[in-house]
Amino acid sequence: MAGDQGGMEPADVLVVGGGPAGSVAAITLARAGRRVVLIDKARFPREKTCGDGLTAGALRLLDDLGFEPDSVPSWHPVDKVVLTSPSGSRRTFPLERPGLHAVVARRSELDHALLAMAADAGAEIHEGTALAEARQTDDRVIVRTDNGQELTGRYILGADGMWSPLRKTLGVAEPGYRGEWHAFRQYVSNVTGPGAHELHVVFDQRILPGYFWAFPLADGRANIGFGIQRGGKVEIQAMKQLWPTLLADPAVTEILGPDTEPEAPHRAWPIPARVGRVDLHVDRALFIGDAAAVTDPLTGEGIAQAMETGRWAAQAIITYGPDRPAAVSEQYQGAVEQNLVADHRLANLLSRAISTQFGAEWSIRLAGSSAWSRRNFARWLFEDYPRAILVTPRRWRRRVFDRPGGFASTPR
Ligand SMILES: Cc1cc2nc3c(=O)[nH]c(=O)nc-3n(C[C@H](O)[C@H](O)[C@H](O)COP(=O)(O)OP(=O)(O)OC[C@H]3O[C@@H](n4cnc5c(N)ncnc54)[C@H](O)[C@@H]3O)c2cc1C
Repeated sequence: MAGDQGGMEPADVLVVGGGPAGSVAAITLARAGRRVVLIDKARFPREKTCGDGLTAGALRLLDDLGFEPDSVPSWHPVDKVVLTSPSGSRRTFPLERPGLHAVVARRSELDHALLAMAADAGAEIHEGTALAEARQTDDRVIVRTDNGQELTGRYILGADGMWSPLRKTLGVAEPGYRGEWHAFRQYVSNVTGPGAHELHVVFDQRILPGYFWAFPLADGRANIGFGIQRGGKVEIQAMKQLWPTLLADPAVTEILGPDTEPEAPHRAWPIPARVGRVDLHVDRALFIGDAAAVTDPLTGEGIAQAMETGRWAAQAIITYGPDRPAAVSEQYQGAVEQNLVADHRLANLLSRAISTQFGAEWSIRLAGSSAWSRRNFARWLFEDYPRAILVTPRRWRRRVFDRPGGFASTPR
C-alpha cells in the first residue's frame, strides 16, 4: 500500500497513524472525494498491544462502514461475559442476539483490514513513514517525514496514538503524561477451559483498581492480560513480577484450562483516558483516538471511541471545507463533548466505586441480581448504549435499550 503524494497542491487532509482512528477518518474522507495522505511509521500487518475486544459500539460502526468480518481470520463473536468478584464468586451475563454485541479480533488483522479499506476508498497510504516534524501556516500544514519527504495538507489529523508525536511537535503535549491505565497482554494457545468461548473478567483483589481479562479467539487461542489504574496500590514497575503469580492463580487456570501455552512474551502499553482535559485541536490539526485520550476510564476500551472520533473529525472537515478551520474545530469539539464527555465523567465515578474490594464485590452482585440487570449490565458494559444514557435525556431515542448489535443482517 505505497503511494506518492505527487504534485505541488496540498492534500485535503494528512493523517498521521493508520490505527482504527486514522483508517476510519481516511475512509470517510476518501469516500467523500477528499484527497487523503496517510502515513504510519509501521508496516502492516503490525502488532498493537490490545485486548482485541470489539464492543457493540465498535461493531455497529464497522457494520456501517461495510466492513467484511471475513477479512479477519481471528474474528470470534462472543455471547457471554463471566465476571469473577474479588471473593471468587462468578456471575454470567448474556449478550443476546440479534446482532453481535462483542467480538474478539486480533488487532494486527483488524487494523490491516481497515487500512486496506482506506486504500480501496482512494487514500494514499505511506507505510514505514514516520512523522518527524510538523508546522502550520495560515492555510496549510507542512510535515517532514523521517525518510526526508515533505508533505503538505490543508488539515492534519493526529491519529498517532498514546504518545502522539504530532501533539509533541505542535507543542500541545503534557510533559510527563503517561496515561491513566497501564496494561499487559499476552496471546496463549491450547485453551481448553470455558475461556475458549466465553469472555472472562476477574476482579482480583491484588490488582484493584484494575482487572484481569481472558478474551477468546478462534482456534483455541485467547488474548489474556491485566490492566491497572496508574496511582493505585500496584506500582507499574511491579506488574512484571505480578504477571506469573496471576497466571498461576487457580481462578485463571480454571478459565483457561491446565495446558495453556504462551505464544510470545507479554507486551505492555499505557491507556490514555482523560477526554475533556486535553486539547482536541490546534489551528488546522485535530487529534483523534488515543491521541485525544478518548478511551473509557472504566474499562480502558478505546477502539470504538477511536473510530468515532475519526469519523467526527472527517465529517467536520467535509462539512466546512479547507478555509474554515475554526468552524471545523468547533464542530469536532462539540461532537466529542456531546457524545463522550458525560460518559467519561460517569465512568470515572463508577471506576472509583469498584476500586475497592467491597465496591467491586457489591457492584457485581447487584448487576447479577436479576435477569433484567444481567442482560442490561452486560450490554451497558460493552457499550451497547452510552455510559451516561440515563442522565443525558437529549440522547434518548426509540429502542435505545433494545437495538440489535452490529452485523445483525449477516449473523455469524
Ligand atoms: C493492553 C491494552 C488492552 C486494550 N484492550 C482493548 C480492548 O479490548 N478493546 C478496546 O476497545 N480497546 C482496548 N484498548 C485500547 C485500544 O487499544 C486503543 O484505544 C486503540 O488502539 C486506539 O486506536 P488509535 O487508532 O487511536 O491508535 P493506535 O491503534 O495506537 O494507532 C496509532 C498508530 O500511529 C502510528 N504512529 C505512531 N507514531 C507515529 C509517527 N511518528 N508517524 C507515523 N505514524 C505513527 C502507530 O504505528 C500506530 O499504527 C487496549 C489498550 C491496551 C494498551
